[in-house]
Amino acid sequence: MNFGMTEEQVMIVETTRAFVENELYPHEAEIERTGVLDMDVVRDIQKKAMEAGLYAANMPEEVGGAGLDTLTWLMYEKELGRANYALHWTAVARPSNILLAGTQDQKEQYLYPCMKGEKWDCLAMTEPDAGSDLRGMKATARKDGDDWILNGTKHFISHADIADFAICFMATGVEDTPRGPKKKITAFFVDKDTPGFAVRDGYGNVSHRGYTNAVLEFDDCRLPASAVLGDVDKGFDVANTWLGATRLQVAATCLGRAERALDHAVAYAAERKQFGQQIGKFQGVSFKLADMALELKAANLLTWDAGWKFDQGTVTESDMSMAKLKATEMLAFVADEAIQIHGGMGLMDELPLERIWRDARVERIWEGTSEIQRHIISREMLRALGG
Ligand SMILES: Cc1cc2nc3c(=O)[nH]c(=O)nc-3n(C[C@H](O)[C@H](O)[C@H](O)COP(=O)(O)OP(=O)(O)OC[C@H]3O[C@@H](n4cnc5c(N)ncnc54)[C@H](O)[C@@H]3O)c2cc1C
Repeated sequence: MNFGMTEEQVMIVETTRAFVENELYPHEAEIERTGVLDMDVVRDIQKKAMEAGLYAANMPEEVGGAGLDTLTWLMYEKELGRANYALHWTAVARPSNILLAGTQDQKEQYLYPCMKGEKWDCLAMTEPDAGSDLRGMKATARKDGDDWILNGTKHFISHADIADFAICFMATGVEDTPRGPKKKITAFFVDKDTPGFAVRDGYGNVSHRGYTNAVLEFDDCRLPASAVLGDVDKGFDVANTWLGATRLQVAATCLGRAERALDHAVAYAAERKQFGQQIGKFQGVSFKLADMALELKAANLLTWDAGWKFDQGTVTESDMSMAKLKATEMLAFVADEAIQIHGGMGLMDELPLERIWRDARVERIWEGTSEIQRHIISREMLRALGG
């Protein structure tokens, strides 16, 4: 792996950083204060992001994206991650890569409008009784002639309130596995106005203000056969093929937020004086800075390593889980220590630190909890020994 950045990567990082600082930071305080994402602001930023070539940069050039390789995309995500998540996700980041798995008709109906900022997607897997254990899901889709009838409930579904359609993963059967019976899963496109499909307000959430979650209800919701994404009973194959790098995306955004927190902590340690000297001269503070920098660098290296291997086709599940686990746990540590270095001021909303600290909490839960990441890492080690 070449640890140096190419000229193109430097340019992308600098352009994205400038965009984030100039276009996103000014709106953060309002969203944090109100918890509401103003869609006029989003439209305005989205337009500027498109002009700057930053909107949906994860997508290939042939569908209008920037065609970045995974490593460069993660560098871009790291910069976006510095800002309020609702803002960066909605106004700049992307539609989901899973839309690339669609047929040409599905691309016309869903992917291309998303690329133009005319539509938003959301992804629905989790249910009240099925979180980590997705193959235990209860929401079903059953065949009725050529149609499908969907029933059940999904919850925690991010930004479903503004989404024009949902990609919903439903149980379409059961199969015996060495670990007992497991659901077969199929993915469906469900348009918001489909009869029998309702989006209800979700829960208030301590992390990522403005980034809402919703409950999706399916009550004999009838869909045509053309609504299936990928193959019937192969929903997880579609997800694994096209959502492979989302754990790395979470890791990368955590790196950006941690770097922002560390920058604040270093500046404050140099500027704040107590007992007649800079607090950074006290070992109790300076050692914190060293440990924060160390953890950040370790998480950065694990993330870049996994991203680079992703592009080589050599990445393992364990590589991606290690990056996600380290970066999310590092962010919790760095955000907490940055607040400690600021004393009481760290908790005040004058600074982005209390926000980064709150936002850090969800990162160890979504896209697979820390326990599930540890399970994936240890499983790969034990499998080699027949475990
Ligand atoms: C803000 C937010 C937004 C979200 N957005 C979406 C979305 O857009 N779409 C979507 O589908 N989902 C979404 N999720 C769901 C998210 O992916 C789940 O919360 C996550 O997978 C964990 O599931 P759970 O919350 O049901 O916890 P559970 O699976 O019930 O876990 C509870 C605890 O048990 C532990 N545990 C469970 N199984 C094991 C095991 N085998 N070994 C060790 N420990 C275990 C977990 O680590 C955790 O500590 C979102 C969640 C949040 C909080």
